[in-house]
Amino acid sequence: MNPRTLRNVAKTVFTKQMFQQLRLAAISHAKAEPGICPACDYDGRFSPFGMPVRTGVMCPKCWSLERQRLLALAMKRGEIEIAGRDIIHFAGEYSVTHLILSKQPSSYKISEYEGDHGDVRLDIEHIDLPDNSLDLVIANHILEHIDDRTALAEIYRVLRPGGEIICMFPIIEGWSETYENSSITDPVGRDMHFGQWDHVRYYGSDVRDRIREAGFTLREITAGPEDFLRYRLSRGEKIFIGRK
Ligand SMILES: [Zn+2]
Repeated sequence: MNPRTLRNVAKTVFTKQMFQQLRLAAISHAKAEPGICPACDYDGRFSPFGMPVRTGVMCPKCWSLERQRLLALAMKRGEIEIAGRDIIHFAGEYSVTHLILSKQPSSYKISEYEGDHGDVRLDIEHIDLPDNSLDLVIANHILEHIDDRTALAEIYRVLRPGGEIICMFPIIEGWSETYENSSITDPVGRDMHFGQWDHVRYYGSDVRDRIREAGFTLREITAGPEDFLRYRLSRGEKIFIGRK
């Protein structure tokens, strides 16, 4: 096939796929069941999001996805302590910021490693903070990108006794062992093997051992079947909380 033909084929496929995705987004929005957003109290139909498109998953008011709404629900139900605590939120989830501040933490800072919109810039593998200086670290969907054992040890170091880490990540509960392969370094390979171009592993159920090995005691929060419908959550998703 000559380069021009190849270009034309690629163009047609790309346009067709884009059109199909937009069409699916419109259909799925029309069919989406209404729900309530625990992060911002929006009540109505949720928007489609993702590629491929997922139906009724994004709050159109605060842009929360399922995982931020599960976090917000746990906070609203008092399952996560906020008041009076010194908190660092890595890779801030802005849809829950308002809710966290309403619970009156002692301090709340968002750390962004890239860009200028965070309050601080901390390297989670080498946290530039003294030992025993925080009460809560929120690090959702970060561990699957990095040297997780180093980061967990660092978070343990900077937490005060009784302090907690909140972490969520993609997990295949049916796998007893975490899948990682350091020879897969290119974005296409990582996307195929680990589900996203910049992920370096897929956690199995043994992720709990990694969190405990850092010194934490572990608890897990999820929501019931009716919550998943009412708040448009992802069935089976969990919040892992390690306590120092
Ligand atoms: Zn919302």
